[in-house]
Amino acid sequence: MKRVLVTGGAGFLGRHLCQHLLMTGHEVICVDNFFTGTKRNIVELLDNPYFEIIRHDICFPLYIEVDEIYNLACPASPIHYQHDPVQTTKTSVHGAINMLGLAKRIKAKIFQASTSEVYGDPNVHPQREDYWGNVNQIGPRSCYDEGKRCAETLFFDYFRQHNLKIKIARIFNTYGPFMQLNDGRVVSNFIVQALKNDPITIYGDGDQTRSFCYVEDLIEGLVRMMDTSDDITGPVNLGNPGEFTIRELAEKVIDMTGSRSKLVFQTLPSDDPRQRCPDISLARHWLDWEPRIRLEEGLVNTISYFDTILKEIPQG
Ligand code: NAD
Ligand code: UDP
Repeated sequence: MKRVLVTGGAGFLGRHLCQHLLMTGHEVICVDNFFTGTKRNIVELLDNPYFEIIRHDICFPLYIEVDEIYNLACPASPIHYQHDPVQTTKTSVHGAINMLGLAKRIKAKIFQASTSEVYGDPNVHPQREDYWGNVNQIGPRSCYDEGKRCAETLFFDYFRQHNLKIKIARIFNTYGPFMQLNDGRVVSNFIVQALKNDPITIYGDGDQTRSFCYVEDLIEGLVRMMDTSDDITGPVNLGNPGEFTIRELAEKVIDMTGSRSKLVFQTLPSDDPRQRCPDISLARHWLDWEPRIRLEEGLVNTISYFDTILKEIPQG
């Protein structure tokens, strides 16, 4: 049994990771400031004696004894990370420094949840890990993109300077149950809009692409990465190489929910990447990993989750 710290453990991915670690026999300490995560997400885990929750902002130092650290704390949805951009950069940069300092002091292995956003609006397609990206450093997405890029830099400097055991995964768009109703990312937005027969909000012409990974596949990739031998640091891409336009996603969701929703086209946010698709050759090679769950299958589970949540909310 390992004692594992999960920062951002009450968020969407963090919640699934905590559950997976508990189910595979580990002790989990979840640290979260509940900015985008909720107690509701982790309520089912609270009865487990091997699960602990600490309300804490990782921008401040933390003293704790663990074997491994998964650093997931950071709002991931554009509307949330742009709400307080200075705090977003602080979370990525100061948060990384604090967690790396902790890992160094207690000699723990540390994993960083990086992102496909480090590639910006990519000129190379699909994106491989050796592509350095095309990122605007002064735009509205920069707090997140540059924060995550700087966190990668810090991880590699701690690796080179202090011989830390680091693992970096660049996560591509992931979806599934336990996203918030108001998360603002495309899959949850479209499903909630479709279930309520509200207009489906497509930003731009809907021809931009994304590759959607179901959360169960992603979590398997994260833990496999953490379990690799010390010489493997990453970065490794984790995502589903199936690529869809946003309009295709909207049509699929309408079809699968039997919704009466109509498509409405709204202004494309600035610096919104035109295309995104992971090259996962490295993940296949290092982790013997690839996603197993097709978009339709993952959407069935996610639609069913949101359907239940919406029925629990009093209508009025
Ligand atoms: P999320 O917003 O649901 O979860 C983030 C969690 O971090 C929340 O519980 C939030 O309250 C917590 N948090 C934020 N700032 C904090 C701080 N300063 N101190 C402590 N806790 C803090 O997002 P998610 O989708 O679960 O993403 C988790 C991680 O994975 C993030 O680092 C994100 O950048 C990365 N990621 C996610 C995706 C995706 O598609 N889900 C893609 C790429 C990268
Ligand atoms: N998007 C959209 N309607 C929405 C939410 C998002 O058309 O209601 C688009 C958004 O402009 C982007 C894509 O869907 O092109 C994915 O957006 P998301 O916020 O999920 O993630 P990211 O842009 O970070 O990949």
